[in-house]
Amino acid sequence: MRKLIIAYTMLSVFLIGTVNAQNTNINNKKTETMKFELPKLPYATNALEPVIGQQTIELHYGKHLQTYITNLNNLIQGTKFENADLETIVKESDGPIFNNAGQTLNHNIYFLSFSPNGGGEPKGKLADAINAEWGSFENFKKEFNAAGTAVFGSGWVWLSKDSEGKLHITKEANAGNPITKGYTPLLGFDVWEHAYYLDYQNRRADHLVELWKIIDWEAVGARY
Ligand code: MN
Repeated sequence: MRKLIIAYTMLSVFLIGTVNAQNTNINNKKTETMKFELPKLPYATNALEPVIGQQTIELHYGKHLQTYITNLNNLIQGTKFENADLETIVKESDGPIFNNAGQTLNHNIYFLSFSPNGGGEPKGKLADAINAEWGSFENFKKEFNAAGTAVFGSGWVWLSKDSEGKLHITKEANAGNPITKGYTPLLGFDVWEHAYYLDYQNRRADHLVELWKIIDWEAVGARY
């Protein structure tokens, strides 16, 4: 009997470990018995310095995002969203559930858009679509930064694509995500003060200019 219990415990640990190990996509889909969890960062917390400091990553990812996820898990218990995937919850909820689901999705995309070896320019079809819409990558960045700087208060600026593949830059307040407009989010810059205040204080525009140095265009391009 004792051996059986030990075997069962080991199997449980193995299964939980397996789910955790796979939890690296932006949807961080829970199974029936698992809750939403932090996505695994593909870089060390100090690897994005000096663009984003270690303390900012530790607080923003480890505390802010973790709190959104914990709140989401608690809020959906006993609701119709209990076993829904994250994108469905964002599309169909409102109020506190939407706020925490939106921020979970937004940050999952955000933190998986960076690499210490990032920067440069997009390639392939995404580059073509950017050039078709804004003439050049430089023009696109200017428009994107201007939109991010113009968000009043807390929110996000997004690059997304519509069902025809046409690209859009949109400003979103608070937890907003272009998925609620029927668009597919490709890249989002967080303009909540918690994203940049430790490193740039009030200089949001300077922060946005620096972020391009760490964009992982392979990850962003794969979403297109
Ligand atoms: Mn944030």
